[in-house]
Amino acid sequence: RSLSEAMGRPAKTIMSIMFKEFGEMVTINQIIEEDTALAVAMELGVDLTFKKQKGALELVEEIVEQEDAPEDLVTRPPIITVLGHVDHGKTTLVDTLRNSKVVEGEAGGITQHIAAYQVEYNGHKLTFVDTPGHAAFSEMRSRGANVTDMVVLVVAADDGVMPQTAESISHVKASEVPMVVAMNKIDLPDINEQKVLQELTAQNVLPAEWGGETEVVRVSALKGTGLDNLLETLLLTAELHELKANPNRPAVGVCLEGFRDEGRGSVAWLIVQKGTLRIGDAVICGKSYGYIRAMYDDQDQQIEEAPPSTPIKVTGLDSVPGAGDHFVVVGDIEQARELAEERRHEGRTDVLSRHSGGPRTLDDILG
Ligand code: GDP
Ligand code: MG
Repeated sequence: RSLSEAMGRPAKTIMSIMFKEFGEMVTINQIIEEDTALAVAMELGVDLTFKKQKGALELVEEIVEQEDAPEDLVTRPPIITVLGHVDHGKTTLVDTLRNSKVVEGEAGGITQHIAAYQVEYNGHKLTFVDTPGHAAFSEMRSRGANVTDMVVLVVAADDGVMPQTAESISHVKASEVPMVVAMNKIDLPDINEQKVLQELTAQNVLPAEWGGETEVVRVSALKGTGLDNLLETLLLTAELHELKANPNRPAVGVCLEGFRDEGRGSVAWLIVQKGTLRIGDAVICGKSYGYIRAMYDDQDQQIEEAPPSTPIKVTGLDSVPGAGDHFVVVGDIEQARELAEERRHEGRTDVLSRHSGGPRTLDDILG
């Protein structure tokens, strides 16, 4: 039927070609292969192309990208991803900033998962994302989940620029996200700050003190030295970039990580980008959906709502979403379920045709 509609030829004609050419008796509701449809179209001298239907994914992306009116925008906390070579002190830095002890709980002292925390300094909030490495950062970006506003590159002063430092730098350059360097472990004896600055320069990261663009802040994550300076530099950078979001709209954001928790079921670590997420909201996240049943802040305290840039853990999704999946709040649970189910069966195609002329442009096909 849809082939007949697309070509503007009676279904009977198609049926008779199917019978004559392929020896197949088809009904009007039958599904035929793309190749067969093309052969039928060729018989009739019709030029046929296939277009993907606007799927759930595109609808979700549309909601994510919907622009807000400038007057609705309010300053939001910067979302800062911490990158650097393993053992240079990323997790210790975030721990000290929020007076906690995540490092001690880590198996072998190695960060396994992305985690996000909020810190308050002089009345300003900053959201930090601690990653197991730059791979997680670039994986998120490659999936279109550009949550990061800024990067703190941690470089241990005793070790200098190492392979993962260099890789992080190239990912940050590619992403065009502003970067601040935290030269860490300055409490150690026999460190050579000038050598670290030279190594950064060799990577085309020219320190501000040498006339370049990148602030290099000396810190000791372990002792807490220089952290005020680091936070001030970060807030200044955030101010320059005027980070804003509309808190009064249905929430959209990104899943940093999903996991299954014995007591709570599917738990998703989300970060809100726009709008405010509330208990009871109907959400689609990747291929998962559900009502937000409970919401926890980064101290695992239950909260009722989460404004832009807040990292939260939520329960209530029917399955575990993946890192980098977008989430959006939709009107009701039925819509969330339909979108999620559609995403589970993606890849439907729609037939398009036209009757004469040369090939269509790619733009026409992709609509
Ligand atoms: P990550 O792999 O980058 O997350 O590094 P960690 O935060 O797990 O730190 C690796 C090791 O370096 C740990 O033993 C920390 O105690 C130590 N460390 C981190 N920051 C400092 C610092 O400022 N000074 C000193 N002396 N040691 C530090
Ligand atoms: Mg770590």
